[in-house]
Order: sequence, then C-alpha cells, then structure tokens
Amino acid sequence: MSYRFDTLAIHAGQPNDEATGAVTVPIYQTSTYQQLEPGVNRGYGYSRTEHPTRHALERNLAALEGARFGLAFASGMAAIHNVLSLLRTGDHVVTTQDLYGGAWRIFVKLFAKFGVDFTFVDTGNLAAVKEAIRPETRLLWLETPSNPLLKVTDIAACAAIGRAAGVRVVVDNTFATPVLQQPIALGADIVVHSTTKYINGHSDCLGGAVITDDEALFTELKFFQNAIGAVPGPQDCFLILRGIKTLSLRVERHCANAAAIVEYLRRSEQVRRVYYPGFGAIVSFEADDALEIARRLELWTLAESLGSVKSLFCHPATMTHASMDPEVRRNVGIGNDLIRLSVGLEDVRDLIDDLERALAPRSVACAR
Ligand SMILES: *Cc1c(COP(=O)(O)O)cnc(C)c1O
Repeated sequence: MSYRFDTLAIHAGQPNDEATGAVTVPIYQTSTYQQLEPGVNRGYGYSRTEHPTRHALERNLAALEGARFGLAFASGMAAIHNVLSLLRTGDHVVTTQDLYGGAWRIFVKLFAKFGVDFTFVDTGNLAAVKEAIRPETRLLWLETPSNPLLKVTDIAACAAIGRAAGVRVVVDNTFATPVLQQPIALGADIVVHSTTKYINGHSDCLGGAVITDDEALFTELKFFQNAIGAVPGPQDCFLILRGIKTLSLRVERHCANAAAIVEYLRRSEQVRRVYYPGFGAIVSFEADDALEIARRLELWTLAESLGSVKSLFCHPATMTHASMDPEVRRNVGIGNDLIRLSVGLEDVRDLIDDLERALAPRSVACAR
C-alpha cells in the first residue's frame, strides 16, 4: 500500500508495539542491548549504532521525503557534518551564497582547513551554478529558500546540472519542509534537515536528518553516523516523532499567518523592503532603526532558530549570520536593517498588532 503524506506522518516507521500493543513508539532509554550469543542480538546492539526510537524516526523521515533511507542526528549541524564526511582533500563544493551561518562556518572555518574548497554563488542563477562547477567538484549544496534573504533555487534544474557533471546534489530542506517541497522527487541525491525547526516545531529539542534514496550512499553515510557518533537520544527522537504527527497541520497555519503578515508589511510605510518567496512562513524585511523596532516588540520573541509554534524574530547580521565575515555578509546583502521573522501559530491579529505598535514612528509623537 502506498499512503499519502498525512497518513505517512502518523504511521510510517511506527506500527503499534508488538510486545505491548503501545500505539506510540516507546522511549527505549537504554544504552546497550543483550546479546543472545557474542555478535548475535535481536536487531539492536548498542544505541550509538541504532536504537528503536531512532529507527522509527529514521524510517518516518525517509517516508516524508519520499525516499527509502533516513538517518537521524543530534542536530542539524551534525547532519551537515555527516554529509561533508563524503569529501576528501582537494574536493570542491558549489553552494548557495546566503546560506545558514552555521553551514557557512563549518564549510569555511572547518572543512577548508582539510583542503576542501568552496565556491559561493547565487544558485538561483543557473548559468552561475554551471560556471562554478570544476572537474574536482563533488557536491552542489543548495539551500532553498535561502537564509535570510529567501531566494528560491530551481532544484530540478540544478539536479540536472549536477547529474550531467557527475556532481551530487544536496538540498537543505529545513525552511520549506517536505510538506511544501520534496527535493528527492525533483532529482536531488541527499536531503538535509535541521529537525530542530518545523519538523519538531515546538522549540523543545535539537535534531538533524539526512535522507537519500541511494542505497550505496546510505551505507556510506550510515557508517559515518556510527563512526562519528553525533546521534540523538531516545527522548529527543520521541519528541521529534511527536512533532511530526502535526507537521502538515502546523505548516498550513504557519503559511496562512505568514501570508497575512506579508500583506501587512507590504502596506506599512516604515518597511522599505519585504523578502518573501510566496510560500513558507519565514519572512524578512528591511526598515530603518531595525534594532529599535526589535526592542519594541513584545509578543514576538527575540531568539535564534525558527519554525516554532511561538513567533520568533532575529537580527541576522548580529545573530544567525554573525559568524560570517562582515564583508561577505555585506556583499551577500545581509544588512543591519534586516529583520527575519519566523511566523508562529498565535492569532495572527495579535502578531500584526504587535508589529504595528513596534513599527509606528515615535519621533512624531515625541515632537507633539
Ligand atoms: C538551524 C539550521 C541548521 C542547523 O541546525 P541545528 O539543529 O541548529 O544544528 C542548518 N540549516 C538550516 C537551514 C537551519 O535553519
């Protein structure tokens, strides 16, 4: 039987428990498993290698992305590190210009040290992507929509470019979620997630995922997962599985709230520019005195991260993208007047009222 997305979110990888009938996958809080004889076990040996709660999550994540294989990690960065482990000295990676600051940092500050070279391009520009590929290019690493400027990359077109050049295509699908975008079906080789964000959705744990439909690639990545050991414990896997059950409901409302906020921001005279790809629930805007506006918001929480039930906002230049070199940041277009919103699930009228209060020009009121 092939089920649809909402059914898979609740059922994939999580049949009722055979031993007890429990309808929810239990938290198997144990580090090791009894062996029947040396080297012979009931399917689980040691929790770094695999444990039942993680196994359920991994099968579930794979199903959501329409793929056969999933791997869960302790954080999104651990997932990114796992995929980068495919590289060796001399290899080259082409990647999105305005990508997540932590991804930029591990590329430039860690893997460059091992002799891996990175070229940052506007991956929305297919000619630029093609031009950046060299004989030693191994990965085309896409983030779409990008962060924080929300530029959209054509995944199918990039996958075709990658295939023709023998370059594997990786998509960080954290912002769109598999509800809105399924890169494997568009030809990507690997999908990466920070499950900390929408997939878990409640700001109560960290997690990451790597998903592929390529069995040989999966075997290699699973080897790295066990060898490196940046794996999630059963409690975190349970929370993420719990979050996934309402993923598509949440994303639907996140998007509706974001669309209403975009409409408000586009009408506001204080807002110079709105960045919104037309879908999703991350919205960025530019306004004078962005930091002053930030101080006035009450309902919105100033915090790193996104994709939570609670509305959050951040100042990328000093927060999520502070680890980027200042000059790179400026060239990419991440200015001091930029604010990024992660629209939550509160009543959108309250969210707009708070923005309206914060954006209202003060100097006029003071002059009276
Ligand atoms: C947050 C984020 C990451 C890193 O994930 P962590 O769970 O914080 O380690 C990677 N990519 C994107 C797009 C993110 O938003």
